Amino acid sequence: MSLQIHDTLKRAKRRFEPREGQPVSLYVCGPTVWNYAHIGNARPVVVFDVLFRLLRRLYGEEGVIYARNFTDVDDKINAKAAAEGVDISVITGRFADIYEADMAALGALPPTHSPRATAHIPQMVDQIEALIQQGVAYAAEGHVLFDTTAYRAYGALSGRSLDDMIAGARVEVAPYKRNPADFVLWKPSKGSEPRWPSPWGEGRPGWHIECSAMAQTVLGLPIDIHGGGHDLIFPHHENEIAQACGAHGSDDPATYARYWMHNGFLDMDGEKMSKSLGNVVLVHDLLKHYPGEVIRWALLSGHYRSPLDWTESLLDQSRKALDRLYGVMQRAGGLADETDTSVTDALADDLNTPRAIAALFELDGAQLKAAGAILGLLQQDPDAWFEGGVTDELRAEVEALIAERITARTARDWAAADRIRDRLTALNIVVMDSPTGATWRMG
Ligand code: AMP
Ligand code: ZN
Repeated sequence: MSLQIHDTLKRAKRRFEPREGQPVSLYVCGPTVWNYAHIGNARPVVVFDVLFRLLRRLYGEEGVIYARNFTDVDDKINAKAAAEGVDISVITGRFADIYEADMAALGALPPTHSPRATAHIPQMVDQIEALIQQGVAYAAEGHVLFDTTAYRAYGALSGRSLDDMIAGARVEVAPYKRNPADFVLWKPSKGSEPRWPSPWGEGRPGWHIECSAMAQTVLGLPIDIHGGGHDLIFPHHENEIAQACGAHGSDDPATYARYWMHNGFLDMDGEKMSKSLGNVVLVHDLLKHYPGEVIRWALLSGHYRSPLDWTESLLDQSRKALDRLYGVMQRAGGLADETDTSVTDALADDLNTPRAIAALFELDGAQLKAAGAILGLLQQDPDAWFEGGVTDELRAEVEALIAERITARTARDWAAADRIRDRLTALNIVVMDSPTGATWRMG
């Protein structure tokens, strides 16, 4: 089977060719851990989790290394730590734990490596020193800046010229910058801001250098596939390429990452979900109302490169689709020996999750669990799915009521049967009658 992926750099679908004798490496930019993740932040997590599962299927579990970083030093983190009067590690530790738990609830496998920026400062300093030596970075007033005019390949990923970048981006004007588009590699820390020693004085790294240094340290170069949300193409990924390639005197972006994949935005009411716009739904809150699997289905219902409109009706449809397939599984009982490849084939075509999901509806109940594994869906016992979130006490009560109802119906006491049904409805239980008896689930 050949894996085709849309490469942002080449602006085309390309056949993925692993490097000879090397495991496949995947790097995805992770969260800045200062707050709860919103459902837009979860989109790349779930999308690249499907890619991780697919790569493991194609190249074996040992044949794939996946790194997703934590940005654990940042102005927003510093501000929150200062406001609470605690060290930044208290804030980042708290939100990294919450993030991992929330993403696990969405069925995302833990990556092979979850590097933290603060644990890689010496490697960042090394990369910055190499950039200065190569003549593509300069130190000025305690800062170190990347010289965007000295690096010839700058702009290859985003397709922007330096003039466009200056016109389009909110570039900070500062006296220590040689060119408006130059970006910070290292900056001095003031007051109580966290700080690390460096040849340019005590300070902290810029955001972009964190990823290029961590990716190089944890995965080695080149990375096979680098991913993230669409908003990261410029400037973040453009700058990662410039740093990693510039440090080695290379003009070829493929010496940093061989394929680039970017997910489209998750929108709400026609606008990108983002904290700055204030239109956010937190994963943590959503999980109180919906099973993680419903949220995951909703995130995978659209193709990863298209925008995804987030609505309550999308969640309702996702729940209904899962109910239907778990119902098919429940009726089928056992598992099939043979596995169908239609889901994997759809995913191998640039992660076509809508086609993969549609293919599930063509399978019989015995095949669904095996076929769903690669999507991280349909892995529960169907009975457990329908009873989702039910306590033992409630289960005992519901089962007693259903038994009473069967007795009432057998005795043709319809009034009693209806009363019992009303009590079940009041408990938010839906009873599904079938020729072989009744099954139930939470409403
Ligand atoms: P941030 O914490 O803002 O750096 O974002 C973490 C990840 O979520 C990045 O890969 C972003 O590109 C991605 N992201 C942020 N907002 C959205 C959104 N509304 N839709 C899809 N991806 C997003
Ligand atoms: Zn990054």
